[in-house]
Amino acid sequence: MRRPMVAGNWKLHGSRAANATLLAGLRRGIGAAAAGGAAPAPLVDCVVCPPFCYLEDVGRALQGLPIRLGAQTVSAEAGGAFTGEVSAAMLKDIGCEYVIVGHSERRALFGDDDRRVARQFMAALGQGLTPILCVGETLAEHEAGAAEAVVARQLEAVLGAVLEGPEPEGFARAIVAYEPIWAIGTGRVATPAHAQGVHAFIRGRIASQDAKIGGLVRILYGGSVKPGNAAELFAEPDVDGGLIGGASLKAEEFLSIVASAAGSSGGA
Ligand code: PEP
Repeated sequence: MRRPMVAGNWKLHGSRAANATLLAGLRRGIGAAAAGGAAPAPLVDCVVCPPFCYLEDVGRALQGLPIRLGAQTVSAEAGGAFTGEVSAAMLKDIGCEYVIVGHSERRALFGDDDRRVARQFMAALGQGLTPILCVGETLAEHEAGAAEAVVARQLEAVLGAVLEGPEPEGFARAIVAYEPIWAIGTGRVATPAHAQGVHAFIRGRIASQDAKIGGLVRILYGGSVKPGNAAELFAEPDVDGGLIGGASLKAEEFLSIVASAAGSSGGA
């Protein structure tokens, strides 16, 4: 059984004051759910990914809550003359457990190509962080029927590097997030059938390299997930939860999505 997971990507949002409000809302909501016997802790892995400069603050505020800390990207480099970069070891050092790699905004705007994403992924694994690998096609690629080809290329760039690397079984503890770019921040969510189709394809590609890892790896859907559409997406057998952008900035919405994940049965 794969444990459902919901991760919030705060992107370039927040301030100390705004974060405190959001975290207080999460704390209140989790407290209320616990009082009603419905706290997410035992059922769902829950993660938030604030901007780098708030990681330590947010990590402190999360103490005692069933929510883990993640970063939005990581350097492919271990250290040295790389101005502006943050290494996997540094993230680990300040209490991060997860890191997003290959988000479409990083790929499109900051030059994170398949090769660099593979190195970032390996750097994260090497420090014991759990990488959340984002893959997904543009609208033009979607309309050209190329979703699977794009996702296969992005996935295999990383999978190949891991399987040839020092810890081939490491991919089993990674997370893949299928995020069709046309669905990110647009309000145009993928249908559950489309998401399931691509998730099954991703799982199949991984299983074709290693059947055990294919069965274990969790695959999240991301792109305009909201409280009103989360349950039907998470009900699909290969959708193991969500990577949430906009709705992760509102405590009530995020917790409602977490509750939908808790209500889903989890994958085989
Ligand atoms: C994202 O950026 O990862 C994302 C899924 O955003 P949104 O939920 O706002 O579409």
